Amino acid sequence: MFNRVAFVTGASRGIGRAISLTLCRTGFDIVVASPEIENNELVAEEIRACSGEAMTLNLDVTSQESIKEGFTKVLADKTRIDVLVNNAGITRDGLAVRMKVADWELVLKINLQGAFLCTQQVLPSMMKNRWGRIINIASVVGQAGAAGQANYAASKAGLIGLTKALAQEMASRSITVNAIAPGYIATDMTKGLPDEVKQKILASVPLGRMGTPEDIAAAVKFLASEDAGYITGHVLAVNGGMYM
Ligand code: NAP
Repeated sequence: MFNRVAFVTGASRGIGRAISLTLCRTGFDIVVASPEIENNELVAEEIRACSGEAMTLNLDVTSQESIKEGFTKVLADKTRIDVLVNNAGITRDGLAVRMKVADWELVLKINLQGAFLCTQQVLPSMMKNRWGRIINIASVVGQAGAAGQANYAASKAGLIGLTKALAQEMASRSITVNAIAPGYIATDMTKGLPDEVKQKILASVPLGRMGTPEDIAAAVKFLASEDAGYITGHVLAVNGGMYM
């Protein structure tokens, strides 16, 4: 019996790292993909330390060449990608009135176009295998909006639309496409928030704490499993109840 292969973008840190470690414990071979090869190797070492299989890939989702080259290499080596987790993402916050076009473009390019281009690369092999799981890491901000995050909110709302369109296109091949919408999760992305902002956010979370990367990884593990085979086009909120 072969191991299924899960490809995780933005896997070097935070949520992507937790997803990689959780899926490897479930028996997946992991492709750890992000721009910095040294950071990918650190996560790969953690995976190998718990007897998992890891391949690292230098992947910059702003570059079509990097995406095409990367996926071609993995498919040549592993022959299959069963699960794609589009997790790579950034913020470039600022009020819309003063937002630089470069900040708008970069956020859309990484968070939305990157996910689309990576998905295009895996669809042919998933269609051939008549099985696949695409899991897009969106955000509560894509559902509820947030002042100062017009670019980020648009990218994550776009990712939710992309999820639903793909779910409809791919259902006949038993490929499910779902999104996870995390609330505020303790990672480098939220580390720099001022204390008063963090307190305000916490006050809006009924479960009374920030989420952990492992909270998101647990949801990915479920959506990647056979048990989730009848779920597609869904947006799973993992947000402590902050948006219902
Ligand atoms: P993070 O700690 O800042 O990690 C971001 C990851 O994305 C890193 O691995 C980074 O690689 C990678 N990345 C950045 N630019 C990339 C590019 N051009 N190509 C490929 N990979 C790239 O963020 P996080 O909190 O774990 O967030 C992961 C995902 O969850 C993002 O999509 C984010 O929008 C979403 N999310 C996060 C929260 C939260 O509260 N943290 C809430 C909702 C949704 P490097 O290490 O090389 O920079």
